[in-house]
Amino acid sequence: MLADSFGRVATDFRVSLTDRCNLRCTYCMPPEGLEWLATPELLTVEEIVRLVRIGVEVLGIREVRYTGGEPLLRRELVEIVKRTSAFGVEISLTTNGIGLSRLAQSLADAGLARVNVSLDTLDRETFIKLAHRDRLVDVLDGLSAAARAGITPIKVNSVLMRGVNDHEAVPLLRYCLDRNYELRFIEQMPLDAQHGWTREEMVTADETLARLGSEFSLSESDPRDRGSAPAEQFLVDGGPASVGVIGSVSRPFCGTCDRVRLTADGQIRNCLFAMGETDLRSALRAGATDAELADLWITAVRGKRPGHGIDDPTFLQPARPMSAIGG
Ligand code: SAM
Ligand code: SF4
Repeated sequence: MLADSFGRVATDFRVSLTDRCNLRCTYCMPPEGLEWLATPELLTVEEIVRLVRIGVEVLGIREVRYTGGEPLLRRELVEIVKRTSAFGVEISLTTNGIGLSRLAQSLADAGLARVNVSLDTLDRETFIKLAHRDRLVDVLDGLSAAARAGITPIKVNSVLMRGVNDHEAVPLLRYCLDRNYELRFIEQMPLDAQHGWTREEMVTADETLARLGSEFSLSESDPRDRGSAPAEQFLVDGGPASVGVIGSVSRPFCGTCDRVRLTADGQIRNCLFAMGETDLRSALRAGATDAELADLWITAVRGKRPGHGIDDPTFLQPARPMSAIGG
């Protein structure tokens, strides 16, 4: 069992399959991109499958989410989903959706249970401004393909940036309501490679709710239903449809965090904002047993801090940007 010194149990395993990406979202990556990890630095398929098996069979992991960088860029994604869903654990994917139109059915057949697609705008020019690539159509096609493949629920993640796409909260919600996608707005966190985040510029959960409230009637779902989920859910116009708001910064949920992350190069991170990592890859490649790997992992989680500390004057942004951690 993975538990930290504050009694929080980690059951949600976020596995980054690559740090590469075909977009350059401003809140994540600089327009010129980043230096990618070299292939030998990436965990191999066998290494990923082994760590997921240990997580599930030895350490009580209940959900596995593949992320990145862009996980659809990992050639072996379908194989990884197929082999790890065989462990009887729920497999999900967080993706920018580019290439999902081609792969959605194979992923569903391989056992993918859920998908989160990131979509910050419905306007082509705004997409280009925000993500520095002309790929909006591919993202929307990917979403439709996921629906056709029967993957459910389909969640949509949106990050609003002031003066860029913050006027799109209402259209994004209408778009998702019309298609039965579950929309969640995520507050921008200080995890961009450029270190451009400021608290003053961040669009807060309150602001997003105010914008949505101008067009929809929102009523808060019973907070007891939330559990360890980061999103606060609001019924839209009396339900049953709802919208989520993830106030990572202004309404932190660190007290119920159940996540542990593995980077594409095999480092365990016990928090998005952790300054340290635990090197499972070196141990794996030095011939560690399952029990030794599990012990390293348990020790890593035990050291988790009580919260992200963004409001602390001594807060320092971690060296790895979001794209290299895995959101
Ligand atoms: N490329 C995939 C995608 O965009 O969905 C997976 C990786 S991405 C790092 C995972 C999630 O993190 C996305 O929903 C993205 O919007 C979110 N994200 C990235 N940088 C962020 C930041 N600085 N603050 C809040 N969310 C962020
Ligand atoms: Fe790529 Fe996802 Fe980061 Fe956008 S948020 S640059 S799609 S990793």
